[in-house]
Amino acid sequence: MLVLNSGSSSVKYRLLDMADGSRLASGLVERIGEGPVADHAAALRQVAEELDARHLGLDSPRLAAVGHRVVHGGRRFTEPTLITDEVVTGIEELVPLAPLHNPANLAGIRVARALRPDLPQVAVFDTAFHSTIPEHAARYAIDTRVAEAHGVRRYGFHGTSHAYVSRSTAELLGREVAETNTIVLHLGNGASASAVRGGVCVDTSMGLTPLEGLVMGTRSGDVDPAVVFHLARVGGMSNDEIDTLLNKRSGLLGLCGDNDMREIGRRMADGDGAARLAFDVYVHRLRKYVGAYTAVLGRVDAVAFTAGVGENSTAVRQAALDGLRGLGIEIDPVRNAVRGTGARIVSTADSPVVVAVVPTDEELEIARQTHTLIRS
Ligand code: AMP
Repeated sequence: MLVLNSGSSSVKYRLLDMADGSRLASGLVERIGEGPVADHAAALRQVAEELDARHLGLDSPRLAAVGHRVVHGGRRFTEPTLITDEVVTGIEELVPLAPLHNPANLAGIRVARALRPDLPQVAVFDTAFHSTIPEHAARYAIDTRVAEAHGVRRYGFHGTSHAYVSRSTAELLGREVAETNTIVLHLGNGASASAVRGGVCVDTSMGLTPLEGLVMGTRSGDVDPAVVFHLARVGGMSNDEIDTLLNKRSGLLGLCGDNDMREIGRRMADGDGAARLAFDVYVHRLRKYVGAYTAVLGRVDAVAFTAGVGENSTAVRQAALDGLRGLGIEIDPVRNAVRGTGARIVSTADSPVVVAVVPTDEELEIARQTHTLIRS
């Protein structure tokens, strides 16, 4: 199985042996559009060459399918979908909802289909896992006619990761997924939280776009929507300028000038006030979502941290959950401080809610979903 994750300026790939999920090859082609890699076609040609060099070429008869990450599936695509011309058109129609992501995903799909038209190719959508969110959590309280005319509702993202991590968390606890309620905190450069009841997502922090919710590397997360009008009217900023501000110049970067949690940790150790504030704003928002999703779920079995910050930052995990005994959450500072790579428990032995670090693997999840679909 070949998994392709075509972003706006990079293509990530992984070739997997589905007998055991092991990695045969993987890599990253970066800086598409700058220098030698002119476009996605050139990037995919480079992927093909890298695979050829390892005698694992795209023309191999052992290649069974290609799984593509697609960011926005809208309301139409709620499951992994075999790609046809009609599906390509459907993904195209969703470009207004994901103007940066879907065109890049489509470029990867087009080139891969041209290279291997005989091969099943499957789209796995970032929004799909969240399609089960009930209407009362998915809807914004705005005029229904306007919302419906423009598809304005909460879709959620990082769904492949939330699906994988909520399942892995149940495995770690030795419980049935169907009987496990989990709050998943995906904290990477982008960040999102989800409330998962018995394996089914019931709420998530990202909305119409990946801008809503938690504080991220460069995105603001939740703000009063009137901030936008205020910046336009009083600040004289254009729509595009505000879009760039909230998506690219906000979050940790906007607060302190750095978006890497490692650097923020170093600066805090040196007594840097701006870095400290950025960390505190980040953690405060995270705590609020843990509290909110505890209320949404009613009973929580586990809080799972994943992605770059979630898997690696002892300080963020500790600060986010410190003093939450009242919610049944008791993080163990000693276990939490131990560095590790695999899935592990970092709460005290008698904490009613298990706190876990569960590494995510979106490529493996895309491969599994693709495999399941083509076998059925
Ligand atoms: P991701 O998007 O999942 O690749 O996460 C990337 C982010 O993870 C980086 O921007 C860092 O802020 C964060 N990160 C990676 N390694 C560490 C670490 N050892 N400690 C704290 N944060 C980390």
